[in-house]
Formats: sequence, C-alpha cells, structure tokens
Amino acid sequence: MSMSPERKRDLVLTLLIFAGMVLALLYGWGAQRSPLLLSALPWFSWMGVLFKQLLMVIIYPLVLASMVVGVVNLGDIRKVGGLAGKGLLYFMTTTALAVALGLILVNVFNPGEGVNLDLGQPPEDLVAHEFGPFFLEMLKNTFKNPFKSLAQGDVLAILSFGLLLGAVTSTLGDAGKPVARFFEGLNQAMMRLTDWVMWLAPIGVFALLAEVVALQGFEAVYALKDYVFVVLLGLGLHGFVVLPLLGWILGGVSPLKLFAGLRRPLAVAFSTASSAATLPVTMDAVVEDLGVKPRVAGFVLPLGATVNMDGTALYESVAVLFIAQVMGVELTFGEQVVVFLTATTAAVGAAGIPGAGLITMTLVLGAVGLPIEGIGLILAVDRLLDMVRTSVNVAGDATGAVILNRFTPADPELDGPPPTESIAA
Ligand code: ASP
Repeated sequence: MSMSPERKRDLVLTLLIFAGMVLALLYGWGAQRSPLLLSALPWFSWMGVLFKQLLMVIIYPLVLASMVVGVVNLGDIRKVGGLAGKGLLYFMTTTALAVALGLILVNVFNPGEGVNLDLGQPPEDLVAHEFGPFFLEMLKNTFKNPFKSLAQGDVLAILSFGLLLGAVTSTLGDAGKPVARFFEGLNQAMMRLTDWVMWLAPIGVFALLAEVVALQGFEAVYALKDYVFVVLLGLGLHGFVVLPLLGWILGGVSPLKLFAGLRRPLAVAFSTASSAATLPVTMDAVVEDLGVKPRVAGFVLPLGATVNMDGTALYESVAVLFIAQVMGVELTFGEQVVVFLTATTAAVGAAGIPGAGLITMTLVLGAVGLPIEGIGLILAVDRLLDMVRTSVNVAGDATGAVILNRFTPADPELDGPPPTESIAA
C-alpha cells in the first residue's frame, strides 16, 4: 500500500513528537541524577520558550481573523445566534458533567482523609477573588480598545471585537467584501504558519517537558498520590469515556478517529499547559483531520478555548474538596452544590494559560469559606495536573466542534470551493 507524501510527512512528524516526549522523560530522569545533564537545562528552557512564543505569533491574529471569517460566513445573525446557543449549551453541559464526576470521585475516594500536610504558602501574587466583582470585571473587560486587546493578548476582548466586526461587515454588502477577504487571507496565512511551526513541535515538546520533569521529579507526586490519583482518574474518565462517547453518538466520529485526529493538539496541550497556545494546532487538526467545516471550527474553537474548560472544572472541584478534607472541614451536601455551581462558572472565567485554574479556584474556595492558603497544599503537583487538564480542555473543545459541525448543514456556497481557490479566484 503506497502512502501519499503528505501522509508520510504526517507520520514522520507524529513519530518525532512522540520521540521528543520519550526523550524528555529520559532526560528529566537523568538530570535529577547528573549535574552535567542538568547543566543543559537553561538551553532547553530557552527552546521551550521560543516554541511557545512562536505559537503566540499565530494565536492573536488567528483568533481575530477566524472569528471575523466565521461570523461573516455564517451569513445572517440568526445562524450565528443558533450556533452560539448550541455551543454554549454543549459547553455548559459538558463542564457540569465534568464537575459532577469530580465530586462523585472525591466523595468515594476521600483522598484528603488522614493526610497530614502543611498548608504551605500560596503563590505570592495569588489574591482571593470574590465571585461577583471577578465576573463584573471580566464582563467589563470584554469590550476594550481592540488594538490594546491584541497587544495584551486578551483573548476574550479580541473575540468580542471579531464577533462585532464580522457581524457588521456582513451587513455592508460590496463595501464589506475587501474586509472579509482580508481576514480570510489572514486566517489562511495563520493556518499555514501553524503547519510550518509544527515542524518545531518535536523539539518544543521535548524542551517543555524536559524542563518540567527535571525540575519537579516525581517525589511531590508521591506525597500527594491519592489526590493526584483522583484528579487523573476523573480527567481520564472524562477524556477517554465521556467526551469520545459524546463525539461518537452526537458527532458521528468514532473514538479512534477522534484521538487519531487529535494526536498533535493533545501533545502540544500537554507540553504547553495552555489551551490558548494550542488553539492554532487544534484548529488545523479539527479541519484537516476531522473534517469539520472551517466556518464552524473558526467560530467554536476560539470560543471554546476561552470559556470551555472541562478539565479545569473537574480539577477545581476535586482540589477544593481535597483541601477541605485535609483541613478537617466537612462540606455539607448544600455546600457541595455551591462547589458544583461555582466550579462550573470559575472554569469559564479561567484563561487558557498555564496555572489559570489555580487563580479562579480562589472563587470556589471563597464561596464555601475556605482560606486561599489551602492552595499551598496542592501546588507541588499543579503543573503536572495542569498539563493533563489542559489536554482534556482541548479535547472538550474539539469534540464540541465535531458535534456542532454535524448540526450545521453544509452550504455549497460557503463550504464548496477549497479555501485557497476561493482566494485566487
Ligand atoms: N492551563 C489550562 C488551560 O490552558 C487552564 C488551567 O489552568 O486550568 O486550559
């Protein structure tokens, strides 16, 4: 059986990324034992940062362009509203499922019982957020000077600008066409750039992972093993059972195809711990490998990377109950309902960057009267768990795109010609 050159390249790249991950584990293990190996670490940190910066080059123009193009191509505002409504319904339902799963597991396994640990210190810059003010502030900052939001990498504000610009452009008739074509070109350019940057992914993934393993080792995991176990079990069940089943039943994509299609976004999410940084790769994979219409992916994925965080929500609920258990505080059923509600919303407020879940967890802790110092308990393993929860966040977004794609009828005018041709014409 002969393989197309593209398939061959794809396979080579996947194997290289996988090799990068294995090498990183070996290196991290060795660096904990050999100062010589450890001395290479600054170089690896440098490479890891460079890889992430390259992804940053793509994200912000991509978020803006894909939103504008997505909205313009959806045509009229009712279709935008329909897709946004279905998207939000999917986001909220799956997030709530994840939190419920986390709460059930933490009540069954009681990982914090009998654990004797110091509360430790929360990160210095961590402040206790209160629910109302946090969300009012976030809502206010949804609209701001678009140039400022692009410069500051404020994804929520870029999204809202893209939405408005796309909506208004589509009402302009001929005058709006150059604007739409400009963003269509920009969108495709960013996607192509993603393909290029992916060739550095094996090195980037290696470098980012090597740093984490070399610096953190596995001792911290051991001390918190029951907590880590419950979080990983929950994330595993959600990521490997709930989401694939939904994708299969509602989206018509088999779990095998789903995971094959998501191999790269998952590797990048795992190593960067950032769903925003992974967005270009997710977009590419969902369109190219899972056959989602670009206009659906362009609308659903940026939104999902910002508000849909199943993994984060699950982890926050487990972490808060774990902290309560270690502190000997028994949370009543009513208080657990409060955790359910606040963790679901706090995940929406978390940005798609490393460690964001820790910050919004202060909202959940505050809602049930636990001190933010409790976060000090789980800090040592947070990066590791962040890598896994980010992967689940990304899988949740991609599954959403697959499902919503099925509920968005094909339109030959919008989906017909391949994108490159439509530009050349
Ligand atoms: N790092 C996560 C993400 O980017 C957010 C979190 O900290 O939970 O999806």
